[in-house]
Amino acid sequence: MLPRREVFPHVIEMNYQARQRLGCSVYLVHDANEWMLIDIGFEDTAEEIIDIIRQMDFSLAGCKYLVATHADVDHIQGLKRAKELLPQAVTVGHPECQRLLAEGDRIVTYAEISAQKISINLPPITIEQTINEGDVLKIGTLTVDVWNTPGHTPSQLAFQMGKLLFSGDNIYRDGCVGNIDAHHGSDLPAFVASLERIRDADVEWLLPSHGPIFRKNRDQLQKTIDRLTEYQHMADFGTCAVDWPLLEQWEDELVKGFDPDQA
Ligand SMILES: [Zn+2]
Repeated sequence: MLPRREVFPHVIEMNYQARQRLGCSVYLVHDANEWMLIDIGFEDTAEEIIDIIRQMDFSLAGCKYLVATHADVDHIQGLKRAKELLPQAVTVGHPECQRLLAEGDRIVTYAEISAQKISINLPPITIEQTINEGDVLKIGTLTVDVWNTPGHTPSQLAFQMGKLLFSGDNIYRDGCVGNIDAHHGSDLPAFVASLERIRDADVEWLLPSHGPIFRKNRDQLQKTIDRLTEYQHMADFGTCAVDWPLLEQWEDELVKGFDPDQA
C-alpha cells in the first residue's frame, strides 16, 4: 500500500503524490468512502494515475465524479479511459465543455494547432452531467461549490472547498494566467472579472491546474488584473482587445497629414 501524501486534509494532488510530473494537476478529493478527481490529464497517464489511487487503498467503486475543469485536451484526453476503468463515476463539466467534447471540436480543445503541427488524439468523451455556477458537489460530508470563471475559455470551472480554491487555469504561482486566445473563446473583460472574484473571495490557497500550489496573494492578483486590463486596450492580444489602440490618433493624423516633427 502506498502512503497517502495529502497536500491538505481530504486533498491529494497526483503529481505531488507521485513525486514526479505526470501532466496537468489532478486533484483527488475524498471523504468517507467517496472521492472524485478534478481533471485526469492525458490518456497515457490515466491508467497509471488510477493505479496509484488503487495502491493508496481507495476503492475504485468509491469514485463519484470525474470532473473536467474545461475541455482542453491536456486536461481531459484521459477521461474516456478513466471512465472505462471507473464505470460508476459520473463525468461532469460545464455545458460548453460538454458540447465541445460531444462535437469533438479539435480547434477549441487544442487537439489541433496546425500552425505548430500539433495534432493529437481527442477520443470521444461524453460529459454525462453538466455542472455550472452555483452547483454543489458532495463528497462524503464535504461540499464543493462550483464556480464558472470564464476568461481563459467560457467553460472554465473552479471549485471552492472552504479555504481552498481549485482554481483551474485562472492564475498560476508566478502570476501568469491560462492562455489568452480568441480561437479558444478567451475573453479579457470576463477574465478580469474572474480574477477580481478570486482576489475578493474568502479563500486562502489556490490549487491551480498547472504547476505548484500557492497561497492567494491579493497584490499579485491585482498586478495580474492590471496587466490584463491593459491588454484590453493593447494590440498584443488584438483579437481579444475591446478597442483598437491608436485608432483615434491615427484618424486624427490622417486628417491633418503626417508631420515628422510631431511623430
Ligand atoms: Zn490548462
